[in-house]
Amino acid sequence: MSVKNSVSEILYAKVFTNQHILENILSYLSDDFRKNLNVRLVNKSINNTFLRQIRRNHQKMKIEYAYNVEHSFTRSKGFIYINYRKIYTHDVVGYFIFLNTAVGVKVEKITTRRLWLLEEVFKRRLHDIIHSKLIGTNGTHIQSLINLEEICDGCVKCSTIAQKCIEYGPLRFSTLQTMTYSKNYKKLHVTDKLFEDIAEYCISKSKNKEECFKELDKTILSTISCDKLAIWVNESRVLPDEDTYPKFDHRHMPREVIDIILKKWNVKSLKLSMLHITNEQMCSVEWLQYDYFTRVRLNDPYWETKQSDLKFNHVEVSLSYSQDCVRGLGNLPPETEPPAGYDNFIPNIRRMFPTDQILMELTHWYFIACNNIEKKMSTILQVVTKEQHQKLSLDIQFFVNIGIVKKLNEGTYREELLGIASGYVLQENRFHCFKKSSPFSAEHGPEVFLDNKWIGRRFQVRDTVNRFNFNLDVYIKEKELKEEFNKELLQEYPNSFVGHFFA
Ligand SMILES: [Zn+2]
Ligand SMILES: [Zn+2]
Ligand SMILES: [Zn+2]
Repeated sequence: MSVKNSVSEILYAKVFTNQHILENILSYLSDDFRKNLNVRLVNKSINNTFLRQIRRNHQKMKIEYAYNVEHSFTRSKGFIYINYRKIYTHDVVGYFIFLNTAVGVKVEKITTRRLWLLEEVFKRRLHDIIHSKLIGTNGTHIQSLINLEEICDGCVKCSTIAQKCIEYGPLRFSTLQTMTYSKNYKKLHVTDKLFEDIAEYCISKSKNKEECFKELDKTILSTISCDKLAIWVNESRVLPDEDTYPKFDHRHMPREVIDIILKKWNVKSLKLSMLHITNEQMCSVEWLQYDYFTRVRLNDPYWETKQSDLKFNHVEVSLSYSQDCVRGLGNLPPETEPPAGYDNFIPNIRRMFPTDQILMELTHWYFIACNNIEKKMSTILQVVTKEQHQKLSLDIQFFVNIGIVKKLNEGTYREELLGIASGYVLQENRFHCFKKSSPFSAEHGPEVFLDNKWIGRRFQVRDTVNRFNFNLDVYIKEKELKEEFNKELLQEYPNSFVGHFFA
């Protein structure tokens, strides 16, 4: 062997034993590991690095049936998204087997979304292989399992894993009944439907109100505790007899059921998620025949809502997948179709889940505002100050389309830039965040959902006497800011709303 050869061999060896260099080399390949499987053949260290990267990228898995609201019914059922990448349903089994056998994944968190919309046979299969290939019967590595019961409506496999997780749910009633052990969860998820199921179960087990509440006390056990309770509220449930003209509104929830859960599980903070659709479409109405439980809705007139004596660190409100509540926040009647009342939201939250801190996130994929940022900001202010709040810090993340920062002057036919609504004061803070989104081409969907960068500015309303602080953080896509603005227009309107995004 020549000297030259042995030097390069030493160099090779150095490269192939250096994890950083190997990872760097592989980072030049496509993000889609399925396209790079042949690199496994290069040598053993490349193969090991390759598999280690896949293992790392699959510690958290998001498995979803994503669609565009307008194409929800025409979308092909032939694919799902795994970690934001399109996977054809006939490839899913092979994908999971590869993860399980060749890669040896140790999945810690699985979130599924809207898988109930898939074909019956496939979704049962998917539920089972998620258990067998990704979680494993012992569930050694799993810590969070979110929304899988949406497929099975609660089963033994799921409830067994529920006991191993630190975050779990939404739980169906059958899973709740298995939770007789003692455990502190970081986060538990429940739905408005579960509240009804609990109420109806207690009614069915009793002859009068007193017995019913005794049963309720036995059903919710204080051996379970959870730091954060996530309540999923479906905005479009229907009553059994109103299929033809659904109201697309919130439905009544049994207040005492919510209260006992909050108390006995020792909940410290809450997250409320408003969802425009879930698989729990039908309300249970049996409990409404009895006057045992107080009926509440977040959009009912707030002065009728009883003040709770509990206290929570903070309440987060996610309107990311909402269509109706979120519209109610940016538009007041007559601009909204009935049912409205979403301006009761914050006052009702403060009565049912007393807190000094509310954080709200509006949608980034569906714009509640189609025109005029100035008007929207003042409507939002009007909605959130419907009641004069004492000692409240309120933060809202508001994602807007660049189109709403300007308007066409009908006299001159020239574009004008809109200003900041009165009442707000621009703050120094500079924000940015990333949101996954890609145009959804009708029934086919994108190959992959990409990260979009959003740029944010904070607008504040402050009432020191009542200790009310409201931050409206408005975000615009960086790409739109770069594309849509000419300097001249910005100079012509030095105090425009959008001008602050360039300052
Ligand atoms: Zn299950
Ligand atoms: Zn009501
Ligand atoms: Zn939190």
